[in-house]
Amino acid sequence: MKIEEAYSTDYNDVVDAEKAYDLFWSGEIRDKRNFECPDQNCDARITCANLDKARDKMKNILHFKSYGVHSSECNVVSDKSKVNRPQDDADPSVPRNSYVDSETDVLLLRRLKQHSSIVSTHSGISVVDPKDIKKKMKQSYFMLRNSKRDPEYSTIKPLVSKFEDYLLEGTLSTHHIKISDYKVSYKDMFVEVNGQEFNALSEYPRIYYGEATIIKARNNDYRIRFIDQINHEGKCFNPEVYVHESVLNKHYMRRYWKNLLNEILSLKGRARFFVYCKPNFNENTKNNITTTYLNFRINSLDYLEFRHLL
Ligand SMILES: [Zn+2]
Repeated sequence: MKIEEAYSTDYNDVVDAEKAYDLFWSGEIRDKRNFECPDQNCDARITCANLDKARDKMKNILHFKSYGVHSSECNVVSDKSKVNRPQDDADPSVPRNSYVDSETDVLLLRRLKQHSSIVSTHSGISVVDPKDIKKKMKQSYFMLRNSKRDPEYSTIKPLVSKFEDYLLEGTLSTHHIKISDYKVSYKDMFVEVNGQEFNALSEYPRIYYGEATIIKARNNDYRIRFIDQINHEGKCFNPEVYVHESVLNKHYMRRYWKNLLNEILSLKGRARFFVYCKPNFNENTKNNITTTYLNFRINSLDYLEFRHLL
């Protein structure tokens, strides 16, 4: 049976699958099996399928799957799926009880501190004893289930996944992303590099995307060079993301990123890259020759994502 959200026993809150993915790769969720039903009267075991797989290695989408038997008092699943009843994967009678709002996603520009140390829940209930956190968070889930709250993410990965879904559904204009209290539609947030006019770009950071290739730079730095171009005053520029070794080394997914960049480099391959940034021009003078670069600058790999190795 598919479930939209689950209670993470590592993170001590109800999360959707994309949030769980973000938390697993940042080390806060330790196992794909460490979830249970979000209902306060039910502790049915839940697994997040594909949580431990890199995006390009997933054969199926990221989703929660309930293996345990739900309590007869459980309000998350329909009566049909409760105790002693066979469970059906695609049961349309299972209500989509959505605690986490699917209309607006929040991109946090700074990672939250360890969640389990938070002593105040979203409903304002104060929790002092960690043993009470589960009970209180589930109560809060129950209370807020109809009022909904916006899902919060620390990386652009979940946003890219949702963008691809909304693009297929044709609903980019009706879904939004909130950054520092400023709300922008998915349609306006995602900008394909190809054929853009520099002067027409937003003055705020956006998620730029397009096909790119990798070039080894000095030391252990990498350049992600877009194949597509942006026009500026009659000239065409291939934007580049310069990934400093220091930016790579401070990220929790450094091994994953190094392997990925090296793989694309050795295959002389391409991938579709996404980068949340504000483009800017840089000049470099060498032997009296000045070269102008169009850069997508990032200070964390949280703002970089790739899909579809080509
Ligand atoms: Zn349940």
